[in-house]
Amino acid sequence: MDKHVVVLVPLDTYDQPQVDEAVRTGLALLGGVERFVRPEEKVLLKPNLLARALPQKAITTHPAVFSAVARAIRETGCTHISYGDSPGNPTTTPDKAAEGSGITEAAGQFGLTKADFSSGSIVPFPDGRTARSFYLCNGVQQADALINVCKMKTHALERITGAVKNLYGCVTGVNKATGHALYPNSEVFADMLVDLNRCIAPRLHIMDGVVAMEGNGPTSGTPTPMNVLLFSDDPVALDAVFCALIHLAPTEVPTCVCGQQQGLGVMDAEKICVRTPAGEMTLAQAQAQFGRKDFDVYRGTLQKGLLFKLMPLLPFLQHRPKADPKKCVACGVCEEACPVPEKAVRSGNGQKAKYDYKKCIRCYCCQEMCPVKAIDVYRHPLTKLLSGR
Ligand code: SF4
Ligand code: SF4
Repeated sequence: MDKHVVVLVPLDTYDQPQVDEAVRTGLALLGGVERFVRPEEKVLLKPNLLARALPQKAITTHPAVFSAVARAIRETGCTHISYGDSPGNPTTTPDKAAEGSGITEAAGQFGLTKADFSSGSIVPFPDGRTARSFYLCNGVQQADALINVCKMKTHALERITGAVKNLYGCVTGVNKATGHALYPNSEVFADMLVDLNRCIAPRLHIMDGVVAMEGNGPTSGTPTPMNVLLFSDDPVALDAVFCALIHLAPTEVPTCVCGQQQGLGVMDAEKICVRTPAGEMTLAQAQAQFGRKDFDVYRGTLQKGLLFKLMPLLPFLQHRPKADPKKCVACGVCEEACPVPEKAVRSGNGQKAKYDYKKCIRCYCCQEMCPVKAIDVYRHPLTKLLSGR
């Protein structure tokens, strides 16, 4: 059986020449970028531009990595290269997010054009298992080939946001919130994300894990060095390597489980080969050499067992978003981001965030969008005890 290859290039700096060299090395180890794009094609680079945020906050793909990828694609002779992402934050436009994170300036150096991520239309996907259509940005629909330049981060709903999850930015702004209401738990949301990946079919996935985000991600967490770039044409295998590096079982990550079930890729260690500049290794060897056991990610296993079955009867045990009144500035963003029509959180106009947990679907859009890191995931001490965390 041919193993699915994930290339791992160690890198502990965003110094541009060294990033350029690391990206060149990574692509060469994967067989060359020519395997993935042809010069006459319209190529779209899709970084993570979740919010308007400085690169050092580790919320967005670092511009040095984006630049190195743009340079490599340009060097293949491609002339039609565009870029873009649709941020989830209702107060940020695609342009502002790209400018604030340094991506616009990086794109300008290589003459990349700005793709339309502000408007779109419905694209049918009859083969979807959970989602049969998507409201995709025009920029995505106009491209022949998408290169996913994602960021290594934690996520409140899916535990991690890596290659599979990053494609959600191809859905236009307000429709992302609607998706959370339509697919209201981590499993069904992950299944939809896998459908989205199958619908768009990116050619290549490159993950910026030089400085990752741990803790209260994907926006309010803490930057932390992981010192790697990852490359693969299999987003599930790439995310499984990310999991291995942070000592998290991919069986606990819904996007990995659904991705393997749907045939998007593989997450099982025996099906993955990690290729590095020093040679090939197993997932366990990569974990031993490059992993970090102390990486702060939710490791509880509440999705199984008696406690999970009893959870609906014991609502006080359920995980939930919680705002710190000392940090909340009553900006109203969380209320605006909440996809529940009758709003499970109220805020703004001088009112600090106030939750109605009976309405809350635990999508964590509010936590993701809070601009001042006031919202965290509350886990009852009993559930922490029973889940081993
Ligand atoms: S919790 Fe955050 S997003 Fe909500 S009102 Fe307060 S500061 Fe704004
Ligand atoms: S309150 Fe927050 S977690 Fe609950 S439904 Fe609204 S956005 Fe989602």
